[in-house]
Amino acid sequence: MKIRKEVLEFRPYRVLEGNYKIWLDKNENPFDLPLWLKEEIFWKLRGLHFNRYPHITSMPLREALAEFLGLDSSNIAVGNGSDELINYLVRMFEGKYIVTTPPTFGMYSFYSKLYGIPIVEVPLDENFRIRGDEIAEKAKDALAVFIASPNNPTGNLQPEEEILKVLETGAPVVLDEAYVEFAGKSMLDYVGDYPNLIILRTFSKAFGLASIRAGYMIADSSVVDALYRIKSPFSVSSVTMAIAQTLLEHYEVVEERVKFIMKERERMYEELMPYAYPSDANFLLVKLDAYNYLLDRGIVVRKLSGRLQGHIRITVGKREENDEVIKALKEFAKEL
Ligand code: PMP
Repeated sequence: MKIRKEVLEFRPYRVLEGNYKIWLDKNENPFDLPLWLKEEIFWKLRGLHFNRYPHITSMPLREALAEFLGLDSSNIAVGNGSDELINYLVRMFEGKYIVTTPPTFGMYSFYSKLYGIPIVEVPLDENFRIRGDEIAEKAKDALAVFIASPNNPTGNLQPEEEILKVLETGAPVVLDEAYVEFAGKSMLDYVGDYPNLIILRTFSKAFGLASIRAGYMIADSSVVDALYRIKSPFSVSSVTMAIAQTLLEHYEVVEERVKFIMKERERMYEELMPYAYPSDANFLLVKLDAYNYLLDRGIVVRKLSGRLQGHIRITVGKREENDEVIKALKEFAKEL
């Protein structure tokens, strides 16, 4: 038996595990679902036929999303997390390479590397904004351009006019809106005007459903149709669909939590001035090399590297958790 060299040399995606007190490293929602909502879900799960495969193109959840968003289900696809959709999107279109805008979410290049697809990087400018003109130039031969807005790990929304410059090229633009609920601003309305715009969303952040693995994309029906030609048939389970649908029916729970997280984000930003950058997401980029200092105090955050060496990314947590991080970082900064 011989494992391919490319696989053995591949850098796996890993996160820290262990016994720590406060987890603010994965941009998760700090709140689990309320018990009454879990009970409603359990009741629904009782009626599911566990012996049967889920719907082959996830139509129940796509229809629920279509109603929720005021769109048609032919414009929506769902995946086992938005990661699964990214895994297909890097392979769906003709072109020579993908374009990414580092520092950004790593999975666009992760899957591209896995399939031997070249990556052209157009780095963000000094304010972490995308350079629309430069991306547009590279877009001509690109199979797809990946832009996250709000961006992970910098937290900022990208300017619409810069995204439009890229869309005008006609190249497929995957606009990853994983954190859109915390920004209150989306480019969803442009999908009708630009058949090359593919919006990615997830249930893992604002909806607080990271454990169930559900993400969705909104795009022209030709793109949705193409995806379902190649997608693994039963990757979104009936249990996942039932839970996601229940949350769409109780969106007020999501809204209330998003509001709290946004308020806490602003509080943390003010407390952590001048080290924190403004954020439109549920996390903050902080210019302090405090990863180990926080870890020693039982607080896990994300350590950044490359251009963001010496920075950390902190997920907004519960109030008490945020208080502890603020206190620890103030102490750290005092010792500088
Ligand atoms: N896009 C971005 C920008 C993210 O930060 C994440 C999660 N870290 C994802 C996509 C993936 O989310 P999921 O696979 O849980 O839907």
